[in-house]
This record gives sequence, C-alpha cells and structure tokens, in this order.
Amino acid sequence: MKTDALSEAQELSLLRQTNRLYESILHSLPNLVGIMDANFCLTFVNATFCQYFNCEAETVMQKSILEFFASSEQERIRSHLESVKDNLPIEYLEYQVLQSAEYTAWHEGTLSQLKDEKDQLMGLQWISRDVSERKRKEEQLRKNEERFQELYERTPVMVHSIDQSGRILSVSDRWLQALGYERSEVIGKPSTALLTEESRRYAKEVVLPLYFEKGVVQDVPYQMVKKNGDVIDVELSATAERNEDGEFVRSLAVLLDVTGRKRAEAELDRNADQMQQYIVNLERTNKELASFVYVASHDLQSPLRAISSLLQILQIDYQDQLDQMAHDLMERAVNATARMKELIGDLLDYTQVGQDNQSWKAVDLEDVLSGVLEDLNDLIHETGMRITYSDLPQVRGDHHQLKQLFQNLLTNGIKFRDAQTPTIHIEGADQSTEWQVSVSDNGIGIDPEYTERIFEIFQRLHTQTEYPGTGIGLAICKKIVELHNGRIWVESKLGEGSTFYFTFPQSIDGH
Ligand code: ADP
Repeated sequence: MKTDALSEAQELSLLRQTNRLYESILHSLPNLVGIMDANFCLTFVNATFCQYFNCEAETVMQKSILEFFASSEQERIRSHLESVKDNLPIEYLEYQVLQSAEYTAWHEGTLSQLKDEKDQLMGLQWISRDVSERKRKEEQLRKNEERFQELYERTPVMVHSIDQSGRILSVSDRWLQALGYERSEVIGKPSTALLTEESRRYAKEVVLPLYFEKGVVQDVPYQMVKKNGDVIDVELSATAERNEDGEFVRSLAVLLDVTGRKRAEAELDRNADQMQQYIVNLERTNKELASFVYVASHDLQSPLRAISSLLQILQIDYQDQLDQMAHDLMERAVNATARMKELIGDLLDYTQVGQDNQSWKAVDLEDVLSGVLEDLNDLIHETGMRITYSDLPQVRGDHHQLKQLFQNLLTNGIKFRDAQTPTIHIEGADQSTEWQVSVSDNGIGIDPEYTERIFEIFQRLHTQTEYPGTGIGLAICKKIVELHNGRIWVESKLGEGSTFYFTFPQSIDGH
C-alpha cells in the first residue's frame, strides 16, 4: 500500500515535470499556439501568442478564440473548428487574424484535436504563424503578372509566345485582330501552321536552325495566312527564354505587320519603272523632235535660197518690164524671204543649243559679261545705254551658251528701251543653294499677263515694224538656263521696266 502511495506521488510529480517540459517547449515555439476547450474558449496560450497579440496569458483565458480572427473570417473558422471537433480532418488553412484593433495580418496554420490517453477529446489546438510578408510578395507578384499579362495582351503590337515544341502559348489582342482569329482557336497550335507554304519552308530550313543556335532572330520576313485566307507580310523578331540549365523554355516573338509598307514599296517600284519608261520615251521624242526641226529648217534653206536668187533675177533682168505695182510686190517678196531666212536661222540656232555638259567648266560670269559688252560696244554707244553690274559669281557651265544668254537679255534691254537715260543693271546674289542673277532695265516693261508666254518660241508682243525680232531670243535663254539646271522668269509692269532673273545651282565647292 505504502509503496503504491509513494509511486502515485512519484507518478504525479513525474506528470507535473512532463507538463512543465511540454509547456516550456510550447512557449519556446516560434509559432502562435492556443489550446481551447470544446466551446472554443482558450485554456492555454504560449509566449509567442502573448507577444504577438501584446497581452497577458491570464487576460485571455476563457476568451473565445474567434475574437482573434478578422470578423470576416469568424464564421469560416467556426465551421472549421466544428469540423475538427467532429473529427473531420482539416489540413492547411489560410486566414486573416486581428493582430490589433487596426491591423489584420495574414496567417497560415492548423487546427487539431487534443485527446487524453483514453482517446477522449480534451480540447482543440491552434498553431499559427504570420505570413503577411509572404502574402504581400505573392500579391505583388500576382499583380505584376496580371499587369504583364494585361500589357502583353493589350500591347498594340503583334506578340506571340511558343513553347519548346513550337506550339503557341499566348498571343496579344493585336495579333488576333491582325489574323482574324479568336484566342481559343490558336492556343496550342504550331505557330508554323499560320505561315504560307513558302514561309514555312523558309522557317524550317533557314530561320529555326539559326534561332535554336543563337537564341535570337531579327526582322525575319514572313508571310502569314489570315483566317479568311488573306496573306499579310510581317517582320518577326524573337528571343528564346532558357532555364538555368540552358534549356529552351519558351520564345517571345514580336511581329510587325508590314503589308502596307510592302504594298507601297511595290507600288513605288512600279511607279519608278513607269517613270523611267516615261523618261526614256520623252528623251527619244525630244531627240526626234529636235532632229526634225533641225532637218526641216536646214532643208528649208535651199528652196529659200532658190527663191531669193529667182527674185533677184526678176528684179535685175526684168526691171524695165515691170510696173510700179509689180516692183512693190517684188520688194515685199524680197523682204518676206529675208524674214523667213532670219526665222530659219534662229530656229537652227535654237535647235543647236546642245545638251553636252562634258564641256562644262568653271565660268566667271563677269568675264562672260565683259565679252558681251565688248561685242555690243557700238550699239551701246549709239543708244546711250548705261550698263552697270556687281557681284557676278563663278558658275559651272558652257561658256559659249552663257555668253549667248547675256547677249540675248542685253540686246532685248537695249531694244525695248524707253527712258531718256536707258540703263541696265546686272547683279549676282548668293542664295546659299543657288546663285541668282538679275538683269534689270528701265525700258517699256511687259504686261504681267504675258510674262510666261514670252519665253515660248516665236512669241512676241510687238509687230515687226514696232520692234524687229523673231521671238526666239528668250526661248533660247530658257533652254540655256534649264540645261544648266536653273530657272528663268521675269518681273515687270508696263511702263515700269523689267527685271529678268535666272538661277544656277551651287555646287558643293560654291560654284
Ligand atoms: P524678240 O526680242 O526677237 O522679239 P524674244 O524672245 O527675245 O524675242 O522676246 C520676246 C518678247 O518679249 C519680245 O518681243 C518683247 O515683247 C518681250 N521682251 C523681251 N525682253 C524685253 C524687255 N527687256 N523689255 C520689254 N519687253 C521685252
């Protein structure tokens, strides 16, 4: 009996010791531990619990465990507690805990039964830990992924990803829009199935081997077939994503729809071809025309000479047999022939202003002008012209043609003089990309209505008796200036003198 009593006391002390040991283990756990009775009222909390909720163990005893959960979670946790009480297994839970009046934290933990040695329910045990930080990161990650997905799908560019077997994993909205498919129709399909036969062959034979070797391809020209059968041109650039072992995981490709550009390029090529053809035709027609005018005017000269000689014979040999009327008519015929000779001569001059720019060299326009002034010296004196000039540049061109240009403009300035003191001023101006030369007179001026017409061949504004001429001088000027890649025009008003302008492009060295 005594022995029994002793062993009972020993047993009790051993039990207490074990209890203390368990308690100290529970207190030292980093997790929150709460033990509750069948009504879910707390009967034990560990030190971590007290520290976490900033409370004394005694003040929470007999409080319902549910008070420590966020109010939105309480019903769910109560039903879990009931399930555990009824011996239904609960594995892993995530929930929100009310750490303080203002702060709710995310936790994960377990609920389980506590049983005595006779397998009777003693209470329930809650072990929990704060996972707010992990949750925050997960949430961040999820949001980032969502944002990326959103960006990926909504990006205004055609984008697709394929897995290691070449099947489509994802595509952007623009991709679907461009090819006319629904997302569900293309996910899982081999990406090459969307290429034209020719592009597929090119992909298999050229692009893919290169891609698997380098992990990147750029601006690959492919043709893709839309759902409705139409073909679009794209330029594809792709990069491979590999795992830590260097194995291909997926590929991200960006595609540029260049159908519009390709069409425009083709159109441009076609137009350029047509333009080239047009230029060739134009050049041929021009040559034919020039040689026709030359031959025609040249050939007209000999019958004209014959008419002249015949008229001369008539005038000399039949002088006495003709009456006054016949003499007058004869004189008019001689004049008309002379005029025709003049016209033909000018026409020949016009056709002979050649295109040969091989003979071009640097020409000082001041030298050219001096030569012209020398040639016109007598005329200038006779008419009392005052001719001045300044800043004439050096240009590249044909010396003879440029001389003709100045000569025609100056003789016109002299011919169409008006003022008491007729003057002509010639001036050069540097306009950075071109030289501009102006020839201004104080002569009779030109009605602005005709300022374009006078540059056409045989266009004159006066009769032969008012001012002699053939109407070809300015046409020759225009031809010369245009052969030198410049422009010519006139600014004038009747009675207010005229200024003729012409330009020469400046070469890189300023000539
Ligand atoms: P032409 O001098 O032989 O008539 P042009 O071709 O040189 O032929 O000139 C065409 C016409 O332009 C002239 O008939 C004249 O009416 C007008 N014109 C040319 N230069 C001047 C000028 N400096 N002042 C007034 N009119 C001019």
